[in-house]
Amino acid sequence: MNLRLWLVGIVGLALLVTAPFVGRRDENSPGAQYDIGMGAARPTKDTVPRIDHLMATVSILAHDSMMGRQVGSEVNGVVAQWLTDALGDLGIAPAAEDYQVPFAWDGGSGTNVLGRIRGSEGTSLIVLTAHFDHVGVREGEIFNGADDNASGTAAVLEIARLLVERPPAADVLVAFLDAEEVGLQGARALVSDPPAPFPESTLNVNLDMVARSAGTLWAAGAYHTPALGPVLEAVVTNAPLTLRLGHDRPNAPEGDDWTSSSDHGPFHEAGIPFVYFGVEDHPDYHRSTDDVEQIIPAEFEASVATIYAAIRTLDAALPLLTTMSR
Ligand SMILES: [Zn+2]
Repeated sequence: MNLRLWLVGIVGLALLVTAPFVGRRDENSPGAQYDIGMGAARPTKDTVPRIDHLMATVSILAHDSMMGRQVGSEVNGVVAQWLTDALGDLGIAPAAEDYQVPFAWDGGSGTNVLGRIRGSEGTSLIVLTAHFDHVGVREGEIFNGADDNASGTAAVLEIARLLVERPPAADVLVAFLDAEEVGLQGARALVSDPPAPFPESTLNVNLDMVARSAGTLWAAGAYHTPALGPVLEAVVTNAPLTLRLGHDRPNAPEGDDWTSSSDHGPFHEAGIPFVYFGVEDHPDYHRSTDDVEQIIPAEFEASVATIYAAIRTLDAALPLLTTMSR
């Protein structure tokens, strides 16, 4: 075989091997190429957050068939089961008797999905939260909630995978929370009735709307717990996007203080320090247009890489933060 024919053979073989994967990239939108169906987010070993995992999970959770994941709906239960299976696949144990912890409040009921990763020290606890519910269907329009909060849910799942691979010092309670959209009910239930008592050194890290950064991600909470400031500032320096501290001052103009705006609120009310990661509101916030196609994968990837680095840094610092306000 001459060299030319040999090269043709190699190229042909390469095309044959890659052919099954090439077809997925035919869609025009940045997110659609990852819409590869249920079960596609099966994790493999790696050491950094993987954008293909993140986009695959968002594509599933924010698919029209999930009907907006409204608390109490049948599809909300399907999502809870999907997250339960995902934790099981990662080898993460249930935090309580079962992964799924039902709760009720005056006006409804929901289900949190809770797993626990054992840390090497285990004296501190990071409660890693993201709400998986959204607002359902309104006037025939499905609100898919791709950024709010399929993005945070996908990020917690991907970060959990990396924490299993290289265990943190602190224990980590992986908490997919329900009923955020109807008054932070899942977080209230978790704080008032945790699967095990929270130790003295407990930190809530909450993710809600983390994909559409447009280059800037916010970390709120250091105003209330100043010891967190220098730890987060250390992350700012190496972040692949602009990480800003703020949105946590009580005297800020209307809407600028996010202290009570998501699931970290009940932790704060209970005196537990929190770091909330999120992006500025965008035009698709709480609209039927919050779809996976609007997510720019590179922005999402940079955001989750930053949050993951922050969690590793916070984990290392937690034993030194014993003077954190409680
Ligand atoms: Zn949200």
